Amino acid sequence: MDIQSKDFLKNFIYNNSFEKNHQDLLTLLRNEIFERREGLNLTQSGELSYERSRFIHKEIESPLDVLANPDRLFALAEWAGLLDVSCFSIIMVHYNLTMGTFFDHALKNKGVADFVEELDSLSSFGPYMATELGYGNNVAALKTQAVYDHEEKCFYLNTPDQLSQKYMSYSGFSHIPKIAVVMARLIIKDKDYGVFPFAVRISDLDGLCEGITAIPCPEKPVQGLDNGLTSFNHIKISLNQALFGEIAEINENGEFVAKIKNVRARFLKSMSRIMPGRLCVSSAALGGGKASCYIALKFAQHRLTNAPGGQDTAIINFLPYQREMFINLAKIYAMSALTNNGKSRFLSIDGDIDSELTSQINLTKALVTWEMTDVIISCRERCGAQGIFSVNRITEYISLLQGLVTAEGDNQVLIATVAAQLVNMEYTPGSQVYDNGDKYDSFTPESITGLIALREKNLIKEISEHRLSFNGTFFDEWNSISNDAIHLSKLWGYRVAIETMINWKSESVESQNLIKALANLFGLYVIQKDIGWYIDSGKLSKNLLMSINKQMDGLCSELLPKVDEIIEAFGYDEDLFKSPICYPEYQRVFTDFAKSSRTKLLEESL
Ligand SMILES: Cc1cc2nc3c(=O)[nH]c(=O)nc-3n(C[C@H](O)[C@H](O)[C@H](O)COP(=O)(O)OP(=O)(O)OC[C@H]3O[C@@H](n4cnc5c(N)ncnc54)[C@H](O)[C@@H]3O)c2cc1C
Repeated sequence: MDIQSKDFLKNFIYNNSFEKNHQDLLTLLRNEIFERREGLNLTQSGELSYERSRFIHKEIESPLDVLANPDRLFALAEWAGLLDVSCFSIIMVHYNLTMGTFFDHALKNKGVADFVEELDSLSSFGPYMATELGYGNNVAALKTQAVYDHEEKCFYLNTPDQLSQKYMSYSGFSHIPKIAVVMARLIIKDKDYGVFPFAVRISDLDGLCEGITAIPCPEKPVQGLDNGLTSFNHIKISLNQALFGEIAEINENGEFVAKIKNVRARFLKSMSRIMPGRLCVSSAALGGGKASCYIALKFAQHRLTNAPGGQDTAIINFLPYQREMFINLAKIYAMSALTNNGKSRFLSIDGDIDSELTSQINLTKALVTWEMTDVIISCRERCGAQGIFSVNRITEYISLLQGLVTAEGDNQVLIATVAAQLVNMEYTPGSQVYDNGDKYDSFTPESITGLIALREKNLIKEISEHRLSFNGTFFDEWNSISNDAIHLSKLWGYRVAIETMINWKSESVESQNLIKALANLFGLYVIQKDIGWYIDSGKLSKNLLMSINKQMDGLCSELLPKVDEIIEAFGYDEDLFKSPICYPEYQRVFTDFAKSSRTKLLEESL
C-alpha cells in the first residue's frame, strides 16, 4: 500500500490536524478501561460510561483548555464515543454545553469560581438543562422560572407544571455530584425578560439537593445513561448564579438592563454553545460512519462466498456490494469535506457567527447526521448476521445516530430553519451553472456542481413565482413551499461538499485524483435524486443521463484497488475495535469471543 497516499488522505479527513488534535485521543482509547464488557445491565453500563468519561478527562488537558481550542473540542467529540457511544453524550454535554456556557459567559464572575473549579476538575459533572417535556424544538418557549427577589438579591427557581420539567438532561444518577446549567425564564416584578442560563447545584455526594426532584426516564436501547425529568421547587439561588455575561445585568435598583436589546438575539447568545455543539455532533456522526465502513469493508475482504460459475470470492468483489459500500465511502468523504469547511469557517471568525455561517452549520449537522445514519444502517446490513452483534459495534453506532439526529436541534426543524432563511434572502448559488450537457459524454465533479447549481436556480425561481401568486395564510404559504425549500437547502450543502473536495490541494496527485473520484461518485448519487427533473429540463442529453449507472460502476472499479488506502486514512486498525469481523481469521476470533463472553455468562447464571 502507498503509505504516502494514505497519509495525504488522512489530512483531508482530519482537516490537517490528526497529529495535533486526534492522535493522542486515539491512543487513550486503547486503554483497558475501554475493553468490551458483556452482560452488564443498562444501569451498570451507564455507570461504566461515567467511569470512562472520568478516564478521558484525567488523561487530557482540562475542559477550559479544550474550550480555548475549538478544533480540539471537535476532535474530542469524534473520539469520545467511538468505543462507548454514551461517553460522547457525557463528555460533550459537560465540556461543550455546560463548561462552554461558563466559558462564554461567566469566567469573570467570581461568584461562580468554585463551580468552575469543580467542573473543570470533574469533581462534579455538568448536565445542561434546556429542553422541557413540552418544549423541545420550541425550546425558546420554555417555562422554568427564575423569579428575582431584589431584597434578598437572589432568584427562586421553579418548575410551574409537568410540561416544564427539564427533560432528557442527565439527572437520573443522583449519587454523582452534578452542577447544571439550567435555562430559565427571568421574571422581575412579574415581567418576563426572556431565557437565560443559571448555574445550579443538582446533587452532591449525599444525593439530590433540597427542592430538586429527578425522575429517571424510562429505558432506551443500548445507552444506559441517566436521562431524567428534573423539577425545581422554588429553590433559592444567588444573584451570581445568573450567567448573564455580556448579555444583560440587574442593576442596583433591581432593574433589568439589556446589553443586547433584541429578545431573540439574547436567547441565541444565552444558548451560544449550540453552534459549536452542532459541529461536535457532526464530528461524532462521522466517527460512527467511518468506523462502520471500516469494520464492514474489512469483513468484506475476508468473508468468502461462492461466485457464479467460479471459485469462492470475497464479497467485496461483487459489484452490487461495491455500488452500495463505495457510495457510503463517498458520503463519508463528502460529509467530512462539508464538516471541515464549516469547522474552518467557525475557527476563522472573530466575534459573533453571521447568519450565513449559522445556516451552514445547521445544514451541516442535519445533512451529516442523516447521511451517516444511512451509511451505518447500510453497513449493518452488508455485514449480514455479524452486523447485529454489539461486539462488531455497528448497531451501537445506529443508536448513537438516533440520538444525534434529534439532539442539539432536530434535523427536520433545523433544515426547515435553513430553508426559510434561504427563501427569504437573495440566495443564488455561487457556482457556474452548467446547462449544455449535450457537449459532454461523462460527468465530472465540476460539471456536477454546475448541474446542482442549475437545479438550485430552478427551485429558487419556482418558489418565488409560487409565492408571488399565493393567496392564503403565512403558515399555508410556508407549507406550500417548505418541501421544495428544504430540497434547495440540501442541494446547497451537497454542492459545498463537492466544491470543497474539488478545491482540496495536495502534494500527492494520486490522493487528489482519489478525492475527485469519490467526489464524482457522491455527485452522481446527488444527481440521481433529481434525475426526473434533469431529463425533463432538456438541458442534458438523454444518453448522458442514462449513463449514470454505468459511470457509477466504472468509478467503483476504479476505487476497488484503493479501498485499503481510503479506509486506512481514518487512522484505525483492527485492534482498536477488536471486532471479530475485522480480522482475516474472523471465524476463530468470533468463536473465541463467544466462548469467553456469552458462554461464561450463561455458565455463571446457571
Ligand atoms: C439522546 C438525547 C440526549 C439529549 N440530551 C439533552 C440534554 O442533555 N439537555 C437538553 O436540554 N436536552 C437534551 N435532549 C433533548 C433534545 O434537545 C430534544 O429532544 C430536541 O430539541 C427535540 O425536541 P423534542 O424531542 O421535544 O421533539 P419535538 O419538539 O416534540 O419534535 C418532534 C417532531 O415534531 C416535528 N416538528 C416539531 N417542530 C416542528 C417544526 N417547527 N416544523 C416541522 N416539524 C416540526 C419534527 O418532525 C420533530 O422531529 C436530548 C435528546 C436526545 C435524543
